[in-house]
Amino acid sequence: MATNWEKTPIRSKILINGELVEASDGKTFPVYNPATREVSAEVPEATVDDTNRAVAAAKEAFPAWSDLGPAKRAVYLKKLASLLREHKDELARLDAITMGMPVLYHGLVSAPDLWDYYAEAWPQIQGQASLNTPGHVTFTLRQPYGVVALIIPWNVPVHFFATKCAPALITGNTIVLKSSEKAPLAIARIAELVIEAGFPPGVFNILSGHGVPSGQVLSRHMDVRTLSFTGSSRTGKLIQEEAARTNLKKVILELGGKSPAIIFDDANLEKAVKQTQFSIQFNSGQVCMANSRIYVQKGIANQFIEAFKKHFTETAKAGNPLDKETNQGPQADEVQYNQVVRYIEEGKKSGGELVLGGSGIFDSTNGFFVEPTVFLNTPEDAKIMKEEVFGPVVNINVFETEEEVLKKANDTEFGLYASVFTRDVSRAMRVAKGLESGYVGINTTSPNTARDMPFGGWKGSGQGREGVLYSMENFLETKSVILQIDE
Ligand code: NAD
Repeated sequence: MATNWEKTPIRSKILINGELVEASDGKTFPVYNPATREVSAEVPEATVDDTNRAVAAAKEAFPAWSDLGPAKRAVYLKKLASLLREHKDELARLDAITMGMPVLYHGLVSAPDLWDYYAEAWPQIQGQASLNTPGHVTFTLRQPYGVVALIIPWNVPVHFFATKCAPALITGNTIVLKSSEKAPLAIARIAELVIEAGFPPGVFNILSGHGVPSGQVLSRHMDVRTLSFTGSSRTGKLIQEEAARTNLKKVILELGGKSPAIIFDDANLEKAVKQTQFSIQFNSGQVCMANSRIYVQKGIANQFIEAFKKHFTETAKAGNPLDKETNQGPQADEVQYNQVVRYIEEGKKSGGELVLGGSGIFDSTNGFFVEPTVFLNTPEDAKIMKEEVFGPVVNINVFETEEEVLKKANDTEFGLYASVFTRDVSRAMRVAKGLESGYVGINTTSPNTARDMPFGGWKGSGQGREGVLYSMENFLETKSVILQIDE
């Protein structure tokens, strides 16, 4: 029976071998609307058996899919891109009622475009050739791994679905995607679009469920040759351990962040205020690269802090994420809400000065909202300066010298995105070079990124890089061939 996507609670399905099915034991779990606490959906909890069946289907489908060639595979990707475009408002609503992202911002998620880019990028799948070994021609072949598993988080589900699935498929792999238990609905709706796009059975499998069992089974599975994961550092480590214990599958990890933004005295103040505020407010601060630590130089500190507080207060419009005016939705669920509130309480005890917000705002909808919150001059070793809060909570600390601020900005286990605001180009380049971070914004900050540049973490923020060309690399093996020429 077709799912009724308009009437809650929605009853979604999983996609195995081209068919939409219930979990093999019939079990489901509820997903709540974080703005109202009502049940949005009952979602299948994929079992060990379901996960094994999905991997087996992908394995079976692999030879024909990889032999098809990228130009023919691209036709399916293009079809899915246009279906995603057609259904973008519906997908935005489904994310809004599961993890609370305002529909206003869903448009920033460029999933259909990404599917198109990957569909068109296939001529880049190339090896290299050389005559550097006398008497020989040598070359490399780039070939798909086989079955690839993709595990995504809840914070920007449709975006991660695109950044992982599209490159894995265009390069000739078959896939098993596991959505997040906190935001499975848009992905479950996409499972229907995958069927509509005509993907051959088994090429594209989509599971819903918690980390255990389905995520864990994928990490351990001997037939999964590559696993690309975006999520928390804790889970990333578990997946890496499972991979090491089993078949040493290749693991790509996109993990957390504690991004610093450095504002020097000569910066464009207005721009720095607007951009750093948007960075921490966007998606209610639930963004891996959100600038949760701002360092401002002493000369403009007071001016910056006052302008930042004013802008944060005036800009943030908390409310139902389905309303087009809302730009701050609730935290994704009660667990996330409690985590943010706990960090705020820790922050209050840490010696930092609370100058804005500092608590939840349970409005008339009874949602999990958190006030825009600003701490000043929190000690560098405080938990709230070191760990990911994942809420609209920012620490602003004052610094005096370039050397001092670089040391502080780098004093973290994370290294995902960092930014520097200054009009001095030499200083901008010195600081960009000095920052231990996979991405650096100069006079801009996250979430601003370029699609054709690699994205990924230094240090504990991950392993590997993603981006239009880089992600295809992730899903291709390299084989060297040496051919001896008869003289
Ligand atoms: P999470 O680690 O709790 O969950 C991510 C996914 O892993 C979910 O699908 C979950 O079901 C699955 N999972 C959980 N336990 C597992 C296990 N034992 N084995 C296999 N899979 C398991 O993370 P989250 O709370 O969904 O996402 C938030 C985190 O993601 C934050 O730390 C954030 O910084 C990070 N993130 C990173 C990036 C990036 O590109 N670097 C982007 C977005 C989010």
